[in-house]
Amino acid sequence: KAKAEGGASIHFFDPKMEEAVIKRAKIEADLRQGLIKKQFLLHYQPQIFSNGRMTGVEALVRWQHPVRGLVPPSDFIPLAEETGLILQLGNWVLEAACKQLAEWATRPELADLTVAVNVSVQQFHQPEFVDHIQEVIRVTGANPERLKLELTESMLAENVQDIIKKMFALKADGIGFSLDDFGTGYSSLSYLKQLPLDQLKIDQSFVRDVLTDPSDATIAKTIVNLAQSLGLSVIAEGVETEAQRNFLETSGCHSCQGYFFSRPLPIEEFEEYARRCWS
Ligand code: C2E
Ligand code: MG
Ligand code: MG
Ligand code: MG
Repeated sequence: KAKAEGGASIHFFDPKMEEAVIKRAKIEADLRQGLIKKQFLLHYQPQIFSNGRMTGVEALVRWQHPVRGLVPPSDFIPLAEETGLILQLGNWVLEAACKQLAEWATRPELADLTVAVNVSVQQFHQPEFVDHIQEVIRVTGANPERLKLELTESMLAENVQDIIKKMFALKADGIGFSLDDFGTGYSSLSYLKQLPLDQLKIDQSFVRDVLTDPSDATIAKTIVNLAQSLGLSVIAEGVETEAQRNFLETSGCHSCQGYFFSRPLPIEEFEEYARRCWS
């Protein structure tokens, strides 16, 4: 276009665009500071089996920002991904989760829980990803059998062989894998038989209207059947009502996670929740 206009480079300054660029740069600098100043924390959301027992938790990162307050991951994970800061953040999350696992190992009401950690595709493709996890496990003393990594289908878009290789290496140490947001992403069912998965996680978008939208009900049931056929466990996320839970239970999905049971909780509240479950 510039050529057609005579080769001169013409800049159109859009003040709104400039504003957005500045804002983004500020958040990026903030994010960097946040990592240095350790402003991140984990909340824990219970995963409940149909007998009412809590079997695990999902660790969900939050940013305790000095001015903005508690910032949800949707407001910083995308930027962390774009800037590569997700690598540092992801390492922090993994370490924090493993420290927590090791600490819980001595406490009866918490010792049997698995901790699910979300990992981004960039983390997975780091050459030292497997070594790093093994190092974190060793240093923290966490039981790898209690650690579960949540992957998303979008991770399988490229270089799947690298992912498969790393999954097998981690699997050999006892680490488990769940395929998060299942059904929403890049879906080549042929990958399902190649990946050493343990679990499919039904995305909350199918759970939301499972009682009123026959398509969602069919999709949820199909995922349950698929998991069963492949010998995998299945869990539903975003379960907000008893009726949803009952539908899922009847459909063969015995594990649920969602506001019906509990929101993701800060550590003290979560440990209190675990004590109540136990007694
Ligand atoms: P996700 O892994 O699919 O996590 C589930 C999200 O659903 C969480 O949002 C959770 O708070 C929310 N949720 C749980 N139960 C319910 C419910 O009953 N109803 C509704 N409407 N929502 C529910 P959150 O904590 O805001 O996390 C959003 C996403 O951010 C996560 O989706 C995950 O993709 C990403 N994320 C969170 N922590 C990390 C992390 O440590 N690393 C990476 N790479 N991503 C993370
Ligand atoms: Mg998840
Ligand atoms: Mg999910
Ligand atoms: Mg989701």
